[in-house]
Amino acid sequence: MQSIYPGDSRTALEVFRIYEAEGEFFDISDPSHIVRDHFTLGNPAETKSGYEVTDTCIGCKLCYSVCPQKCIDIEKIPAEINQNHCLHCGRCEEICPKQAIRKRG
Ligand code: SF4
Ligand code: SF4
Repeated sequence: MQSIYPGDSRTALEVFRIYEAEGEFFDISDPSHIVRDHFTLGNPAETKSGYEVTDTCIGCKLCYSVCPQKCIDIEKIPAEINQNHCLHCGRCEEICPKQAIRKRG
């Protein structure tokens, strides 16, 4: 860099600057209780991933029975997935008799 920027003009150099970004972190140190979360820098359009339960849910609880994280609140109708503990494995979607669970994003 010294050969490109003469003297102390190197202080003008910006290698890169991030204006907008989004990402996820995923903690699997406790396999029976994983934690994921999402973060953003700036104001990017939010990208939703994973699964969600729609209004055709009849509260049969089958999804809960196959969920490895037991992260579906079946006390509610429609049932509700706790996104912070979901593996995105899709087992709930496969078993739902009403096709009430759909992939997001
Ligand atoms: S399996 Fe489908 S219909 Fe049954 S509780 Fe889960 S989301 Fe609702
Ligand atoms: S995608 Fe997997 S972990 Fe997430 S709610 Fe469905 S069965 Fe549970």
